[in-house]
Amino acid sequence: MSSLGRLAAGVAHEINNPLTGILTYSCYLLKRTKDNKEIQSDLEVIVNETKRSREIVKGLLDFARQSVPKKNKADINAIINKAVAVIDNQIKAAEIDLIREFDENLPQVVVDANQLEQVFINLIVNAIQASEEEGSKITVSTSLMTMDPYGVYQVKNAVCPKGHSLMDQTVKINGMPTIRVKVRTEGKSGFVNLDPVYGLNRNNFGIKIDADSKYDLTCPKCDTSLLDKTKKCPKCGGAVYFYEIPGKGRFEGCAQSGGEWQSWPEIDKEGKKKFIVIKVTDEGCGIPQENLSKIFEPFFTTKGQRGTGLGLAVIWGIIDKHDGRITVDSKQGQGSTFTIRLPVEKDTESY
Ligand SMILES: [Zn+2]
Ligand SMILES: [Zn+2]
Repeated sequence: MSSLGRLAAGVAHEINNPLTGILTYSCYLLKRTKDNKEIQSDLEVIVNETKRSREIVKGLLDFARQSVPKKNKADINAIINKAVAVIDNQIKAAEIDLIREFDENLPQVVVDANQLEQVFINLIVNAIQASEEEGSKITVSTSLMTMDPYGVYQVKNAVCPKGHSLMDQTVKINGMPTIRVKVRTEGKSGFVNLDPVYGLNRNNFGIKIDADSKYDLTCPKCDTSLLDKTKKCPKCGGAVYFYEIPGKGRFEGCAQSGGEWQSWPEIDKEGKKKFIVIKVTDEGCGIPQENLSKIFEPFFTTKGQRGTGLGLAVIWGIIDKHDGRITVDSKQGQGSTFTIRLPVEKDTESY
């Protein structure tokens, strides 16, 4: 995401100047050719399309704005109230019944209040737009949850024993970069992308691993084995793979196809963690199933030419920088729920 951001920023800056030139001169020509209807309508197309290009560039810059969050202690409910106040007119104009179900006893969290306000504004505006044809109720709720790291924590930095990064920024699971390892079995080889969430061993196997085949999992860069030959999966007796997480010890998992067991002792010993969960639910048109996995990707849009599709990617980036997680559930014709989870203690939930 961040290298894509830098690329986008570079491209956007480079394109902005020539676009300004095109716009200036085509507007100038428009004035000079007032009596030529045919040329006028052609020039108007140029002017309008150039303006549209500038909007896309602006969206790119928004996405690329790699501003580091300025974090301070803040009250999530107060931030949501501020966001709602900003778009109060829009809520009223759309005749939306906005219901707040707040846990009034939330602990304060260390966040960038401005960035999160922007997130809530965008999510509620999206919910209003989704409610254009059906649905008139939007619910924003907050709650405190205590969760086991298993099934929650995200691995963001996995390395081989020689220190090569195993992170794959291109193959993602639920928007998250995955852990890529090489698989070798009797002459064939391929790659496996592992789910970065601790406890979710949903392997995207590029190659089928059977328990009795002679296989090896290795680092794609140096081919060092990532199988711990001294260990067996406590659940099924299959082989155990491992990788290192700098500063947070060793991560292990069952290498058997379909095996679910994983272990991350350094995180387990820290015990349960507290999270603030924020949900924005609408009863609008919903999101088609085939789009659900893509909506947080930059440039994905379902709004046709109205948007550049960067809104949700920007939101994803902000939540990611808060070590949080954003997910979506949706049923077409029934509405959508966006769920944000923020860690209460700082710098947790990911390593
Ligand atoms: Zn390596
Ligand atoms: Zn197993």
